[in-house]
Amino acid sequence: MNTPQISIVAPLYNESESFPHLVERLTKLMDSLTLRIEVVLVDDGSRDNTALQMRQLALTDGRFHCVFLSRNHGHQLALTAGLAAARGTEALFIIDGDLQDPPELLPDFYQKMQEGYDVVYAVRRKRKENIIKRTGYFLFYRLLKSISYVDIPLDSGDFAMISRRVADVLNQMPEESRFLRGMRSWIGFKQTGYEYERSERVAGESKYTFKQLFRLAYNGIFNFSEFPISFMTRAGGVSIGIALVYFIVVLAKKLFFADVIEGFTALLFVIILFSGVQLMALGIIGEYVLRIFFQSKGRPLFIVKETIVDGKLNEPNNK
Ligand code: UDP
Ligand code: MG
Repeated sequence: MNTPQISIVAPLYNESESFPHLVERLTKLMDSLTLRIEVVLVDDGSRDNTALQMRQLALTDGRFHCVFLSRNHGHQLALTAGLAAARGTEALFIIDGDLQDPPELLPDFYQKMQEGYDVVYAVRRKRKENIIKRTGYFLFYRLLKSISYVDIPLDSGDFAMISRRVADVLNQMPEESRFLRGMRSWIGFKQTGYEYERSERVAGESKYTFKQLFRLAYNGIFNFSEFPISFMTRAGGVSIGIALVYFIVVLAKKLFFADVIEGFTALLFVIILFSGVQLMALGIIGEYVLRIFFQSKGRPLFIVKETIVDGKLNEPNNK
């Protein structure tokens, strides 16, 4: 195949139920366009039939380019692996493998790129997830926006089209705890939003556990704002202020109003409150130390087990 102009990148983890739908929609899309398109599918260590299905497909249809990771690395790293493997010379179109992000929007996004944008990110107008998740997302994006030093657009996930040069920069960013939607904003260049309605997943259940979602949110907050640490410093200042005022009040009482027995409850309250504050402060420092620790190991971000490119099987780590 000639070098593709556009790579569609989709990470898959236990998506064997949605897989046939995904392939059908992508094939139809590619057939209807004259652009040279490759699809980069990343198997994130699935335990079901996903890898087998991918393999069968990629060996027969050269437009599908598959990367198989050695184990489950999580969505952000699977996506990172896909971006690194993609060969599209003009643009990379990032979608979820569960068809929550309609691939048919590709021409619209590409059109925006032609207008001179480097990043076209999708903005979710409506979500079809349950109310708890929706509220969580809603609050998280607003919190992140208010504290982040990067202008991360509201309600935009990883669904986006990025130019080759933005992908090249992303591929050069070695950070271990990845929050791609933040990194994408951090890179800069001309960016614009594209509103769409997020559908429900076509089959199966969400592969993101609550723990993974929290980790993603944590990565957003700790990697794209200084808020936790500056909040801690401020909280420390405030508590010193309170202690000073309290000290002055007690002193004045003692000097001017004879002897006052201070309440035991107040003492207990202060101890509990400030030991809580201290624990939280330690936890926040721990979070930063942990990030330094992980990054300092300098491990590769993901391990590729094998790839199928242009219908041919390669095993990069098996030589
Ligand atoms: N995914 C992945 N690795 C994981 C979890 C999820 O590659 O550890 C993929 C998943 O197959 C899907 C995409 O990431 O294509 C988004 O995941 P999901 O739909 O579960 O997340 P949600 O849409 O519920 O936030
Ligand atoms: Mg989904």
